[in-house]
Amino acid sequence: MIIITKHDVTDEELDHIRERVEAFGLQTHLSRGKHRTVVGCIGDEEVLAGVPWLSIPGVEAVHTVMKPYKLANLQFAAEPTRVPLGDTTIGDTAVTVVAGPCSVEGLDMLAETARRVGKAGAVGLRGGAFKPRSSPYSFGGLGEEGLKMLAEVRSQSGLPIVTEIMDTRQADLVAEYADVLQIGARNMQNFSLLTEVGRLQRPILLKRGMSATLEDLLLAAEYIMKQGNENVILCERGIRTFSDAARNTFDLAAIPVLKKETHLPVIADPSHAAGRRDLVAPLAYAAVAAGADGLLIEVHPEPEQAVSDGDQSLTFDEFDALMAGLEPVAAAVGRTL
Ligand code: PEP
Ligand code: MN
Repeated sequence: MIIITKHDVTDEELDHIRERVEAFGLQTHLSRGKHRTVVGCIGDEEVLAGVPWLSIPGVEAVHTVMKPYKLANLQFAAEPTRVPLGDTTIGDTAVTVVAGPCSVEGLDMLAETARRVGKAGAVGLRGGAFKPRSSPYSFGGLGEEGLKMLAEVRSQSGLPIVTEIMDTRQADLVAEYADVLQIGARNMQNFSLLTEVGRLQRPILLKRGMSATLEDLLLAAEYIMKQGNENVILCERGIRTFSDAARNTFDLAAIPVLKKETHLPVIADPSHAAGRRDLVAPLAYAAVAAGADGLLIEVHPEPEQAVSDGDQSLTFDEFDALMAGLEPVAAAVGRTL
């Protein structure tokens, strides 16, 4: 259940409302916006049914939330969540572009990539130091050495770092270096990992699993938020279907649907959806036109030499062209870059 308060509700009235709810053994969650304050009630709602809530000072309206995700629910928040990324924010008018190689392969390639994507308008640098690979024989990432390279390139370029965490045992290590921790598609329902990152003071980029429904994705976000970390960014990266058009099927409708269901920012990863570089820009434009708050894009100095995901990695020139083409698309839907 959510309780919408009157615009002039006092702190004393808010405390009283929360006490009344908590007396029934439920937890409360406060979301304060410019125009309204929402008290979310988490727990067995049935016990609240007989209370004349509208007679309590400061209460404007009461709604039942039928969806199983509460903290991630749009109704639960007074306004959209904005997640910090360095000096910028994901979920504002500007479309946030994070770009970089699939894997961190070395300091020079990373520094060169940061310089070029930053120049083209990216506001964050991606790169995996711990790589989830379908085959155990594939390159698994440089580990801590890769994290150190990311940190060094951040200090040179000023670009905040987005990098993947694969395991609960890496939590403190990855959090020490990364600005945003990515949970990959294969780990979207690794519930112990979700719980662990929920305890960290770092924003989390949560990718949709390849066979996950949107409800599964939002419940995965709920695991993180339940631990107190509300800085979650959702990412559509393509799902497995019978379509053989591309590596994965980019679920475009997921973007506007998520924007209706949740207050969390939603970004798109057209690179993993496409699997080949000529499809990356069209999917990126479609995502922004559909309301995505940002993009995660793989870029490599020499895609031909990439140790992972070379087929879908853009060259610097291709990334420049993508950014130039993105500007009018963003403007057409009332956004900036
Ligand atoms: C990646 O971002 O390089 C990656 C492995 O993504 P996903 O988890 O979406 O496959
Ligand atoms: Mn990749």
